[in-house]
Amino acid sequence: MTVPSLPLNDGTTIPQLGFGVFQVPPDQTAETVATAFDVGYRHIDTAEMYGNEVGVGQAVRASGIPRDELYITSKLNNGFHRPEDARRAFDQTMSNMDLDFIDLFLIHWPLPTLYDGDYVSTWRTLTEFVADGRTKSIGVSNFQSAHLDRIIEETGVIPVVNQIEAHPHFGNESARAASLAHGVLVEAWSPIGQGATLTEPAVVAIAEKLGRTPAQVALRWHVERGDIVFPKSMHRARMEENFLIFDFVLGADDMAAINAIDRGPEGRMGPNPDEFAWIP
Ligand code: NDP
Repeated sequence: MTVPSLPLNDGTTIPQLGFGVFQVPPDQTAETVATAFDVGYRHIDTAEMYGNEVGVGQAVRASGIPRDELYITSKLNNGFHRPEDARRAFDQTMSNMDLDFIDLFLIHWPLPTLYDGDYVSTWRTLTEFVADGRTKSIGVSNFQSAHLDRIIEETGVIPVVNQIEAHPHFGNESARAASLAHGVLVEAWSPIGQGATLTEPAVVAIAEKLGRTPAQVALRWHVERGDIVFPKSMHRARMEENFLIFDFVLGADDMAAINAIDRGPEGRMGPNPDEFAWIP
């Protein structure tokens, strides 16, 4: 199974399918990521907030896989948006991972009601980490249209991705469209809605028709929208299932049937980024 690589706006590429490690316990992360590598995943999405960067770095170093075949993302935690703090936090991330470089570093949340509404200086600070070679690319997560417009207008630097909540219950079309309009690819977090979308009759019916599983159908829906996904699982069989999404296609009618179960803002599972103000 070959995972497509998508071109990013800074000239790099990213595997369209990866493996997410949110809620993977720190003491099981190295082993879980090693299993994901064995299944075939080459793209790992972690964050300082998840507490498991150390395990991701261990798995990368132990894998024997050439570093240029792997794609590793981490994110700036919410307490470190001031430039001096962001620099220290990135130093800590690099120390946790113990890697020469990472591929992508994101601002985890915009936190527009904190830091006097300043997420722009945070964004500008991330450009230093590209300049010094410790990350290949930078991007954002949970940015709404206005947040994206503002950082691009004030710095001229366009994020390569915007990692936002998206799944069949919440397509998140406004943030998605704003991202794509700027040439920013969308990474869909909680792509199967943490399992909640898998019992949807429309998804189940398509899965039965195609001889696939509901998770494969939901993930394929993202792929056909052109988005990047990294489902999380602690189980090898599910990792394998979630990996097999590039050998079938959904018809236009299938895509429409899944689009039809979008619940709009009610479908959100996570917080609204305009209001979210949590510092761990
Ligand atoms: P997912 O949509 O990936 O769902 C994960 C859940 O679904 C787990 O409970 C898992 O259980 C279960 N599951 C996985 N595969 C299957 C399957 N084939 N059949 C049935 N159940 C399955 O949710 P996440 O919230 O983990 O999102 C994925 C990634 O997105 C995260 O790991 C993280 O990297 C990123 N993320 C980013 C956020 C942000 O703010 N930027 C916020 C949230 C997530 P089990 O493990 O027991 O198999």
